[in-house]
Amino acid sequence: MKRKIVGFHQDEEGHWVAELDCGHGQHVRHNPPWMTRLWVITPQGRESRLGVVLECKKCDDEGPPAT
Ligand SMILES: [Zn+2]
Repeated sequence: MKRKIVGFHQDEEGHWVAELDCGHGQHVRHNPPWMTRLWVITPQGRESRLGVVLECKKCDDEGPPAT
């Protein structure tokens, strides 16, 4: 299911999580050299990704959250 990024927060370990418009979160880790998402560590970079569409696997598996 394609969902738009509506915001970001950090989990308890400091990893960035994209908040999708369905209510699910999806990790967008910056974990070089395997995953380089330099954009996620700057406010400007995150802002530039607002509205970008991600594939939400949770929606595919479980459907949208009840809330
Ligand atoms: Zn979802």
